[in-house]
Amino acid sequence: MADSAQNTGDQQQIHQRIQQLRDEIEHHSYLYYVKDAPEISDAAFDSLLRDLDKLEKQHPQFFDPASPTQRVGGAVATQFDPVRHAERMYSLDNALDLEELEAWMDRMEAHFGRFVPVVCELKIDGSSIALTYDHGSLVTAATRGDGTTGEDVTVNVRTVRDVPLQLSKAGLQGIVDVDVPIEVRGEIYMSKASFEKLNLQAEKEGKPAFANPRNAAAGSLRQKDYHVTADRDLSTFIYAIGNDAQIRATSQWELLEWLKSCGFHVNPDVKRCETRKEVLDFCKHCLEMRDSLAYEIDGVVVKLDSFAQQHELGFTARAPRWAIAYKFPPEEKTTLLRDITIQVGRTGALTPVAELDPVRVAGSVVARATLHNSDEIERKNLRIGDTVIVRKAGDVIPEVLGPILSLRPADAQPWQMPTLCPSCGSPVVREEGEAVYRCVSLDCPAQAKERLLHWASRGALDIEGMGEEIVGRLLATGKVRDVADYYTLSEADLTNLYMDRVNKEGEPIVLGETVGHKLKEAIDGSKERPFARVLFGLGIRHVGKTTAEMLVKAYPSIEALTQASVEELSAIPGIGEVIAESVHSFLANETNQQVIARLKAEGFPLAEEAAEVGEQPLEGLTFVLTGSLVESGLTRDEAGEKLKALGAKVSGSVSKKTSYVVCGEAAGSKRTKAEDLGVPILTERQFLRIVDEGGIPSDLSA
Ligand code: AMP
Repeated sequence: MADSAQNTGDQQQIHQRIQQLRDEIEHHSYLYYVKDAPEISDAAFDSLLRDLDKLEKQHPQFFDPASPTQRVGGAVATQFDPVRHAERMYSLDNALDLEELEAWMDRMEAHFGRFVPVVCELKIDGSSIALTYDHGSLVTAATRGDGTTGEDVTVNVRTVRDVPLQLSKAGLQGIVDVDVPIEVRGEIYMSKASFEKLNLQAEKEGKPAFANPRNAAAGSLRQKDYHVTADRDLSTFIYAIGNDAQIRATSQWELLEWLKSCGFHVNPDVKRCETRKEVLDFCKHCLEMRDSLAYEIDGVVVKLDSFAQQHELGFTARAPRWAIAYKFPPEEKTTLLRDITIQVGRTGALTPVAELDPVRVAGSVVARATLHNSDEIERKNLRIGDTVIVRKAGDVIPEVLGPILSLRPADAQPWQMPTLCPSCGSPVVREEGEAVYRCVSLDCPAQAKERLLHWASRGALDIEGMGEEIVGRLLATGKVRDVADYYTLSEADLTNLYMDRVNKEGEPIVLGETVGHKLKEAIDGSKERPFARVLFGLGIRHVGKTTAEMLVKAYPSIEALTQASVEELSAIPGIGEVIAESVHSFLANETNQQVIARLKAEGFPLAEEAAEVGEQPLEGLTFVLTGSLVESGLTRDEAGEKLKALGAKVSGSVSKKTSYVVCGEAAGSKRTKAEDLGVPILTERQFLRIVDEGGIPSDLSA
């Protein structure tokens, strides 16, 4: 008896200690991530976290999903489930200049008979997020989606340090009925500094860079692996509530106060304005200080302060009538046009590129911008040495608007298209009626590089990690000349590939085992892409993704497509004569035919998965094959074909989504991974039974 009482006492003490640690850590987290005013060192913070983690592991009965140790925890998301928002997430109407903003204020004034107070907030350029708290605990985080239904990104958002997992006591007191969950809303964003760091890293790894911090934030939020999100250094500003009747506040201003008291990160640059002039001055002030902020903003949101007045005006189908977003004009910067260089594209087009003194525009540093063609350069009257105005079209694509002629130096150089291809030295031609100059040599290495990169790009065969540097080295070492060569590379070819760099000790760097292995898996995995993506990946002139899909719909196999005449092709809805000509001549070209034949030999089906096939007993199942199938003597590709014929998907890498891993002799890392993930493993004999019996025998089904 005495023992058990003692035990209960100990347990209570431990639980108390755990609670204290959790409170303490959340408090310091808040000071650090929200207030930006830490009171203890990082090392002390880590030490508290470690103490808590240890205690929780020793006493799993006190597990709590809201514990600060659980920011990174739980299962990796394989997909994002839909979440219906408790209240619709509206968009905002825009005022594209101060006049439009004044017109909105006119309407408000006309409605209320006077100027009613408004709250002006910065329009944070990130991705909107809705956070649901039940009895003060974060239960769901969702993206906006279409406004009615978003995606569940809870696991990822939990890793964002300034999102409270638990609302403060003071915050809870502001809620009308704590038994009803509340949904707060805000923006998740990436700071300029973290964005630059991320892009620098991407560049090093040969991965594509993000166009701006907004895309980076949205992309990071939707990572399948939350560890990636955790590494991305995202932050939030919270500024709204789904249903304002749930809290005691009666105005936007009070709402912001309440959000702060809950522990949310609330933007400090807000102003409650009682006159029009205050609003206009605030907007101008924000435009001026825009560059000095640590994060991107794209305007100012003006909201009626009083909730009662907001309700009076209500919503249109798209947006609240009681708020407006004043959008900043597209940012324009001036910089020096240092040079105009030529880029040779995969179809041989020579594109002049402006080489600029790096300048920060709309979220990222711009050092190059396409000038499209020589007519464009003439039209814009550009000369090397000019000071030019630069902006980003749609906030993404850098664009040179034109020179400032008064700043043109006397020795500014006019520019001319070269007569020889800068990559291979072949003569350059310009076809009748075309703006573009082209290198028509089939052996041009610049074209080969672009074709190889295009094939590996995300929208095409999506070979992750196959970036500029690696493709450049594969070409330079003669290991790869065309896209079919990718599939003849062994893992050793990749692992031992020398980069054009040396390490600190001055020794040449090789790609290494980890990257080499991953890349090989990515190459193998790319064989699973549908025919339309392969067709797009071939880089036929004028054939984009949608065109490729239209072609495949009409001609579901490479054989059928190759046999189609120009007339037949141009009879497909949406395919004009120019595209038809281009497809026909590409497929008739002997070199191209050889590449296609080799792809086929490598296991590319080059046909849309036949719709007319009968039984698909393995539909919905994903298999991975590894090791050698010595008993049957089948290659892995042949074995894969047999599974596909029964409706299965065959993948190159093991994940939680894999249904079965078939392990032949000398199966390696994929087997280990399957064991780690608990994915069922089949022997070759069992695989052969599946093929023989045309389905999973009952004694094998998982
Ligand atoms: P838009 O996407 O241009 O229609 O603008 C609407 C979006 O602006 C909203 O969905 C929010 O994600 C975002 N936003 C950024 N800052 C604010 C803010 N302070 N108040 C309201 N919305 C904001």
